[in-house]
Amino acid sequence: MTMRRVYLDNNATTPVAPEVYEAMSPYLREDFGNASSIHWFGQRAKGAIEDAREQVSKLLNARANEVAFTSGGTESDNTALFGIVEAARGESKHVVTTAIEHHAVLHAAQALERRGVKVSYVRVGPSGIVDPGDVERAIRPETVLISVMYANNELGTIQPLEEIGRIARKRDIYFHTDAVQAAGKIPIDVEKIAVDLLSMSAHKLNGPKGVGALYVRRGTALKPLLYGGSHERDRRPGTENVPGIVGLGKACEIARTHLADSAARIGALRDRLEEGILQTIPGTTVVGDRASRTPNTANIAFERVDGEAFVIALDLRGIACSTGAACSSGAIDPSHVLTAVGRSPAEARSSIRFSLGKFTSAEDIEYALEVIPAVVQQLRAIAARVSAEAPDSRFSAASKHA
Ligand SMILES: *Cc1c(COP(=O)(O)O)cnc(C)c1O
Repeated sequence: MTMRRVYLDNNATTPVAPEVYEAMSPYLREDFGNASSIHWFGQRAKGAIEDAREQVSKLLNARANEVAFTSGGTESDNTALFGIVEAARGESKHVVTTAIEHHAVLHAAQALERRGVKVSYVRVGPSGIVDPGDVERAIRPETVLISVMYANNELGTIQPLEEIGRIARKRDIYFHTDAVQAAGKIPIDVEKIAVDLLSMSAHKLNGPKGVGALYVRRGTALKPLLYGGSHERDRRPGTENVPGIVGLGKACEIARTHLADSAARIGALRDRLEEGILQTIPGTTVVGDRASRTPNTANIAFERVDGEAFVIALDLRGIACSTGAACSSGAIDPSHVLTAVGRSPAEARSSIRFSLGKFTSAEDIEYALEVIPAVVQQLRAIAARVSAEAPDSRFSAASKHA
């Protein structure tokens, strides 16, 4: 008998939906044209890209010509940060962002700092939600961009973008949001949040990997990251990833038509998992605000449990989850998000992110609730034994045993 596999790591990536795969398939085979060609093959590809642009723009309440396709969330974030700063005039330039951004924004901001740009990283309290007042107080006369993520990838916490958008508008400062974890999970309206740039990625909403989009409000002064052609209205050169773009479009269409049902169903499963853990396992707490949160994410701190050992132990029982950002898995450093919201390094290392998705079933959650308490008990017993033997190495030995 094969082991049951339960995938609770949808914030790292999601499986491609069958309808998305079906929509992409012709563009890997007979409809293989280059969208820049004037012949029939080229025009088939071009038509497909423009249909996808329409589908993406509808999810965001944007205009189709405000959507540029990219290679994913990381490229969209980098294009927004570098592109706005490079296009801005003035000797000294300043960017406001937050301490809980994804590395695609944080590391781009750090690279800008090495080029002489000043960056303020607004701090965030235990709620995992940034205070718009703190964003406003960080603004300087030379601020050219505010970049605040929509929903945090580790906690799911949703940021007060409407307020921040109003502040940015009032001060005439460009406003970017990394909406990779929001798209397809909660409604997005670029007019309501008054955002000028918005990043998204197909593989976080049941589309393929390696494709994404950057919404750029009409009239925004943006320099491209790459040079080589006039594709995507000069914002992103290079022969378009037609099957990927078609997949992103389809994923957006499905997400938009099922948003409310899907959020209610997944939210109920997440709550069942979270309540089940909190009620049966002592020493467990939810990290971050529980109300203003994407419906699919639960980040739970398990006292006296080493997160890495926990993830491995659950994997051996067929359950996939994560200690936080996928990019920092394997690294010894605790998550920058968890430390930013005030968790100690030890607490940060004992936090686990469960992220549900379109294909998570009630049976998956019941299985997880069967397995998790026993695994926690085992890991705590090991940790207790180890600390009795060597009081200083509470957690380290537990991960060696795993
Ligand atoms: C996954 C993710 C990204 C990066 O997107 P890729 O398409 O994987 O490059 C950026 N920001 C957030 C919040 C993410 O979750």
